[in-house]
Amino acid sequence: MPTTILTIEDILKSLRVPLTHEREALIRSAYEFSLAAHAGQKRKSGEDYIQHALHTALNIAKMGMRSKTISAGLLHDVPEDTQYTLEDVEKKFGKEIAFMVDGVTKLGKIKLRGDKEEYYLENLRKMFLAMASDIRVVIIKLADRMHNMETLFALPADKQQRIALETIEVFAPIANRLGIGEIKGKLEDLSFKYLDPVNYNFVTKLQTEEYEQSKQYLDKAISELKRELLKEGIRVEKIFGRTKHLYRLFQKMKKHDMNIQKIYDLIGIRIIVPDISSCYKTLGIVHNRYRPMVGRIKDYISLPKPNGYQSIHTTIFGPEGKILEVQIRTKQMDDEAEFGIAAHWIYSEKNDRNFKNFFFGKKDYAIPEKELAWVKQLREWQNEIGKDNSEFMEGLKIEFFKNHIFAFTPMGEVVNLPEDATPVDFAYKIHSKIGDRTTGAKVDGKIVTLDYKIKNGQVVEILTSRDPKKPSRDWLRFVRTSMAKSNIKKAHRKDL
Ligand code: MN
Repeated sequence: MPTTILTIEDILKSLRVPLTHEREALIRSAYEFSLAAHAGQKRKSGEDYIQHALHTALNIAKMGMRSKTISAGLLHDVPEDTQYTLEDVEKKFGKEIAFMVDGVTKLGKIKLRGDKEEYYLENLRKMFLAMASDIRVVIIKLADRMHNMETLFALPADKQQRIALETIEVFAPIANRLGIGEIKGKLEDLSFKYLDPVNYNFVTKLQTEEYEQSKQYLDKAISELKRELLKEGIRVEKIFGRTKHLYRLFQKMKKHDMNIQKIYDLIGIRIIVPDISSCYKTLGIVHNRYRPMVGRIKDYISLPKPNGYQSIHTTIFGPEGKILEVQIRTKQMDDEAEFGIAAHWIYSEKNDRNFKNFFFGKKDYAIPEKELAWVKQLREWQNEIGKDNSEFMEGLKIEFFKNHIFAFTPMGEVVNLPEDATPVDFAYKIHSKIGDRTTGAKVDGKIVTLDYKIKNGQVVEILTSRDPKKPSRDWLRFVRTSMAKSNIKKAHRKDL
């Protein structure tokens, strides 16, 4: 089925931050430009092409992004698929929007390269590099992919398989890395449908049945809990029943011999309260009312998941003794679980000064301490690189990676290094033992000298001796990182 027909008004209505006249005009003119450029074009699904641009823009707006990113989303297929060029876009909308459109176009040009693992790594690498220059490019790409997945039915079977595989292996993990749980879950479920239709249908049916059966007692538990919480003076902002994403459910069932009785969080209740202390008070009240299951209380508020996810989970014996999972969190935690890094931008974008201060680590930024691990890492890198404020571009452009490079291990792990770093720096960054035992290196499959200067995006493989070995003092001439320097010096100090 084609997706809902949208108008530009739907996009403007869904914005999560108020819009100035100027910004509204920008979005409208990007829409007019895209509409004219794609005039007469149809998608394989039968929709007017502009619908794809609008759906992409709507997904971007839902992720909490603002006018420039939304405009770039509306324009993202113009240079690739119409008579207008990137220069035309730049002339009309400026460098920043053209930069994003260009980034999205380049990411789209990745071709499948036979070997599955190879194309996976290639994709991942390009996504990371795009992320490094501007995370908004990745957000537009995810929004674009969402709509492509929603209209995948219109493509031939072989294309469906390729796109679904790429989505589940590359796009969903990146959405997860950015903490955009809602997009990640949807991308996985849409892919699951094409990659494994038999199990998809099986799990869908199972979940629908289970939900129908439990609906009454779920409603009962909700009204009981609500009453109890209000009595204790908790301001319940929202309380509702939830189901699991299908692909996640299937993964979990596989772990438990396909026995649905062992899945305790198949359905559950989510409670949204105003602040952290209310979260813990709520937990106490829930446990006082219903007996908790031993060993099933997870406090991700004190100990967030690596991608920044925060919430309290507990499994209880609810009404009629039935097992039920309860999630307790604040509104901001809920938004962040859904929208990840983008949600941070809503909370931080209120003025650009605060946004900059957030990334420069100054005290007066408007965001709470609990940040996404990814954002934290960006900031650490920024601190390593130095604090030259004048380098900062207007708006949201993230330019942390000047004088900084990403390299990759053969397994696809990212290693970040200063510019001009060598294979020896790379080796010590992985482990001091690997550094010490380094005998040679390959970059993108070719043997290089140890003073080779690694470039952004290269795959570095370190050749090591099997036996313990002392690093060469000569390396001190060319290594760039203090980690490498201190390890080499340490190894030689022992001689004295
Ligand atoms: Mn597109």
